[in-house]
Amino acid sequence: MKVIVIGSTLAGTYAVQQIMNSHPDTEITIYEKNDNVSFINSGISMFLAGDVNELTDLFEVEPKALTDLGVTIKLKTPVLKVDAENKTIQARDLKTGETIKDTYDKLIVTTGSFPILPPIKGIDSEKVMLARSWYDAKKLADVSKDGNTVAIVGAGYIGVEIAEAYSRIGHQVILFQASGQVLRKYHDVEYSDEIVKDLEHNNVKVVLEETVTEFEDAGDKVIVKTNKGVYSANHAIVSVGSSPSSQLLNGIVDLGKSGEVLVDEYMRTSHPDILAAGDVASSYDNPAQREVYIPLGSTAVRQGTILGMNIIENRMKYIGTQASSGLQLYGVTTVTTGLTKTNAIKNGIDAEKVVMRTVYPLTTEEGTTDEDVLITLTYRKDNQRIIGGQMRSRADVSQTVNTLSVAIQNNMTLGDLAYVDQLLESSDRPFNILNFAAQFALNNEVNSNSKGK
Ligand SMILES: Cc1cc2nc3c(=O)[nH]c(=O)nc-3n(C[C@H](O)[C@H](O)[C@H](O)COP(=O)(O)OP(=O)(O)OC[C@H]3O[C@@H](n4cnc5c(N)ncnc54)[C@H](O)[C@@H]3O)c2cc1C
Repeated sequence: MKVIVIGSTLAGTYAVQQIMNSHPDTEITIYEKNDNVSFINSGISMFLAGDVNELTDLFEVEPKALTDLGVTIKLKTPVLKVDAENKTIQARDLKTGETIKDTYDKLIVTTGSFPILPPIKGIDSEKVMLARSWYDAKKLADVSKDGNTVAIVGAGYIGVEIAEAYSRIGHQVILFQASGQVLRKYHDVEYSDEIVKDLEHNNVKVVLEETVTEFEDAGDKVIVKTNKGVYSANHAIVSVGSSPSSQLLNGIVDLGKSGEVLVDEYMRTSHPDILAAGDVASSYDNPAQREVYIPLGSTAVRQGTILGMNIIENRMKYIGTQASSGLQLYGVTTVTTGLTKTNAIKNGIDAEKVVMRTVYPLTTEEGTTDEDVLITLTYRKDNQRIIGGQMRSRADVSQTVNTLSVAIQNNMTLGDLAYVDQLLESSDRPFNILNFAAQFALNNEVNSNSKGK
């Protein structure tokens, strides 16, 4: 069987490796518009902070590992057109300028997403950059000089992580967010407020409720104008979200509201010979119970692998997502899974949450200490099913939120989680923190019900 893969970062690379693993006779050609495969862009902030020495350390798979499997890779060769009726693609070899035509039995579209560029005057200035690709990372490293001031537009994951990275190497940072809250999509205000405090404590000026309207070049500076003020920086970075790169399939397959390629649980599009995965595709949000567009690396890896398993016959279902994600800023881990109460209500769910502060053990070479932890459980009021959770601590709470993701995936209620079997950590900690949080939520429900009587 002849397979063409368009785009080879996470989803594409995982799909290819899975296919060659289970069906080594498949003839695969990858078309990739960049000159590299599998760049882990989540490592850009670590590179800027100096935690990763070489950009080359951020490639997950060397092209040779794929060619050794028998895969043909055409780098710097963007696909320009798909003809689904005749099962052909047209691509341009940017090295020679030559136009290439190729045929396929199955087409895999893993073209990912592209950064949204808001309509800000002067955004095309050389001093305004992105933080997305290998080239962006290299450009950012090239312009980074001691004592620089960097303006970052957008306080989602990328903006916040890059602000932290620059502040750790002594740069001044101004972080702009049009709404009143950083990381608003993923966290409740209790978490965002603590993150803002940490950023400000580390010389990041967090400017909330201001919209950047213009960049103006001024010698070695860029002037950043907002609806409320004027700021000056050496360079600016725009990170306000991403959109699916689905243009090639426009009019060929069904697309969702954000332009994402709609896929079923076997990663099939509405066209029988075209499959898609990763940032270009939809995924099913389990707690919200609907198809959504949530571009995440974790989803790209899972969907890519599952797509690979299903290339010949339907073998493995994608079971949807809780969009679990997290970040570590100044040594504090902040993690989330499922829906916040605000997002649940936006999805038409009558939701409640409990917020609890307790302690969590942090074990290092020096011994074990108790660290403060903030934990939130979000649940449906109608059936007490758990639909989300967040945690924040100096201790590594990421595995606990992963457990919560499994609980949401399996439709557990507060009652289930309150007494589910967990190992006895110590005599003074008879219940695990998740048991404890669910018990707290159950008490909260009993109290609010009795008040209501
Ligand atoms: C700075 C940063 C930090 C992030 N941090 C995290 C994190 O901590 N956790 C997390 O889960 N996610 C994170 N993400 C998101 C994550 O990186 C993406 O979800 C992931 O890269 C998606 O992988 P993908 O393979 O679907 O798409 P992409 O990574 O977008 O790759 C698509 C590939 O397709 C190629 N392509 C596109 N069009 C064509 C064409 N016409 N012809 C040929 N090739 C084409 C592109 O060149 C690219 O190589 C981060 C993203 C960024 C930018």
